[in-house]
Amino acid sequence: MNARTGLVYGSGPLWGSDTTPFDLRSELADKAPDITWHSLNDVTAVLLHYASLNRHSDLRKILLMTVSSGIACRTIDMRNGRIPVDDVGLQGEIGHLPVALPGGPNGGCLELPCDCGGQNHLAAFSSGRGMKKLHDALAKSQPSRWTSSAMHRLMDVGCGHEEALQMALERHDEYAENLLYLATRPIANVVRYALALDPEIDRVVFVGGVSVNLESHYLRLLNRHFQETGLYLTSQRLPHYIMDRIAIARPEQADGLTGAGLYARQVLEQHAHE
Ligand SMILES: [Zn+2]
Repeated sequence: MNARTGLVYGSGPLWGSDTTPFDLRSELADKAPDITWHSLNDVTAVLLHYASLNRHSDLRKILLMTVSSGIACRTIDMRNGRIPVDDVGLQGEIGHLPVALPGGPNGGCLELPCDCGGQNHLAAFSSGRGMKKLHDALAKSQPSRWTSSAMHRLMDVGCGHEEALQMALERHDEYAENLLYLATRPIANVVRYALALDPEIDRVVFVGGVSVNLESHYLRLLNRHFQETGLYLTSQRLPHYIMDRIAIARPEQADGLTGAGLYARQVLEQHAHE
């Protein structure tokens, strides 16, 4: 969504490959003209709430990443409250960046379709739906590893995919561990690049069902990636540099509706001063 105009460009999880622009604000104003409408991207709204709870901290920049049905991130500069956007009003649309994930047939990369209609995007492997597709591909390519796993036994007795994954991770199941290891690998890459390019990012906070529900396991696997490959030279000197910046926010610490309310109030106050 264009943060300047409110024009909605698209949504992979909701609308697939359709990117016909949708003027949400005008539609709302047409349907209910007696209401003053403001519109805001959901990730931005979540970040505004989280940032408001940390306004007295000395954090310079906060990068918030949502890992749920889709994946996106936003970075706010806490010193001036700005969330900068590009020429078309976007920032942090990482979910559809290309990813090369090893583990495919004949030593090649895994190939998965993305909700947006593209192929091998970050969301195709690492979102909630992506992890389900990643699991289907792994179970097919490594049938004996899959059928001998605790996760398989749990799904066999009726557990859903997410529940089985979580329970299997509690039981240190090697298949589930590998599934989450692969799903978090592209996420760790994004975090590594973000921190390498912007040393002012003092916190990387995860929200969204996948990271929140798997919390301790999610952090453990991210840590494993950063132990394997950290930031060149920085991690040698400061081994905890990356993990010191990472947090997972509970829903009450990062609530989109509260953030949207904060935004609307801020806009109204600005108008009152004009
Ligand atoms: Zn995509």
